Amino acid sequence: MKEPIPNCEICNDDGLCRNNENHPDYDSDFSDYLDCIGYLKSKEKRDYSIEVWNPDKKEWIKTEKSS
Ligand SMILES: [Zn+2]
Repeated sequence: MKEPIPNCEICNDDGLCRNNENHPDYDSDFSDYLDCIGYLKSKEKRDYSIEVWNPDKKEWIKTEKSS
């Protein structure tokens, strides 16, 4: 029987977060929440707060954050 992979507490990851000792790239000295943040970003691919969908051009447009 396979042991269940413990989820990263930050992102409730699906086993791919680097902040997880079962990840092949996990490093017990250096892996921490920053790896999790990187994982979340790569997972989301887009930052919806600074990109808006342009239906005319059918592409994502980067916008300046107001304030
Ligand atoms: Zn995580």
